[in-house]
Amino acid sequence: MKTFALARASDSAQAIATAAKATTAQQGAEIRFIGGGTTLVDLMKLNVETPQTLVDINHLPLDKIESLPDGGLTIGAVVRNSDLAYHPLVKKNYPVLSEAILSGASPQLRNMATTAGNLLQRTRCMYFRATDMPCNKREPGSGCAAITGVNRSLAILGTSEQCIATNPSDMCVAMAALEATIDVRGTMGERAIPFADFHLLPGKTPERETVLEPGDLVTHVTLPPPAPGNRSLYLKLRDRMSYEFALASAAVVITAANGTITRARIALGGVGTKPWRSTEAETELTDQPANEATFRKAADAALRGAKPQSQNAFKVELAKRCLVHALKLATQPA
Ligand SMILES: Cc1cc2nc3c(=O)[nH]c(=O)nc-3n(C[C@H](O)[C@H](O)[C@H](O)COP(=O)(O)OP(=O)(O)OC[C@H]3O[C@@H](n4cnc5c(N)ncnc54)[C@H](O)[C@@H]3O)c2cc1C
Ligand code: SF4
Repeated sequence: MKTFALARASDSAQAIATAAKATTAQQGAEIRFIGGGTTLVDLMKLNVETPQTLVDINHLPLDKIESLPDGGLTIGAVVRNSDLAYHPLVKKNYPVLSEAILSGASPQLRNMATTAGNLLQRTRCMYFRATDMPCNKREPGSGCAAITGVNRSLAILGTSEQCIATNPSDMCVAMAALEATIDVRGTMGERAIPFADFHLLPGKTPERETVLEPGDLVTHVTLPPPAPGNRSLYLKLRDRMSYEFALASAAVVITAANGTITRARIALGGVGTKPWRSTEAETELTDQPANEATFRKAADAALRGAKPQSQNAFKVELAKRCLVHALKLATQPA
């Protein structure tokens, strides 16, 4: 591993000014913020990420979870995943978020991992981590070893000819369904980015994963007030019950009255190159009876654009069944 400098940020203006000296956007940049380090340090040990300077943001006053006057919630960037998952307001008003976080990684990792770090965690595609293999995301233009190689766990939605890597985050799937906003402070001031616009599809530039610019510091994630009378849950399917990434997952936030769905927010994990909000499924569900036929139509709509690779065609039906089952659980009598 190359040597690097560790700077401790005492205020966000100084942190932003330092990080803004980077010549590329967050991923691959030579100056990087560090939260829990559970993604970044691993990748540095593998020489996949080689920043020269790490700016430690753990001492910034961004460690609070606070309710907002409109009934929403603001979550600081360095709030630990465990603290977020077990927060009473999250468990009460946003159970899908609590369940998604607790389905990921291990207690030790969740105690370290931060909200912003989780948003920006990188793919688990094995070739991305193997510096002797071609990978357009790690080394633009080098090729994609996964398309003709081992791709069982990789994406079937949002892929391109350049990259088929899955976004691995569970937390992000819940945040997509909750329509969170990501608050960013950068050299041009503050801005709020709707969750759906934050992560980018790989297209021709898989190395660029988010809309963040050099110097952009994620400061908070804001959740809107919970929809009245909604039920939400996260269902994750994987090869083993713990310490494993999703093969398919579903976050559902459903409001139903007298057996009819009046509002639906749906996101899928384990199948998309970004946390996959499905407005197609939401349209199929809204104003329809809460029954298996409706759920199946919604699942078919969500996976209509799926493009499986040589080893992951099974994910199409798996993701559909995952969504149907999540919808059944969310609409069954309490
Ligand atoms: C063995 C293992 C198993 C795992 N299993 C799962 C799983 O099942 N499900 C799941 O969802 N996740 C899983 N994870 C991933 C884990 O959730 C992430 O590693 C963690 O959330 C990253 O958070 P962090 O604070 O440690 O990030 P860091 O490593 O500190 O940072 C990650 C990235 O975010 C950037 N960054 C951090 N904070 C900011 C900020 N405020 N503004 C701008 N940029 C910032 C960093 O520069 C870096 O690029 C697993 C990880 C491991 C090691
Ligand atoms: S799928 Fe993406 S991350 Fe994996 S080898 Fe191909 S380009 Fe790299």
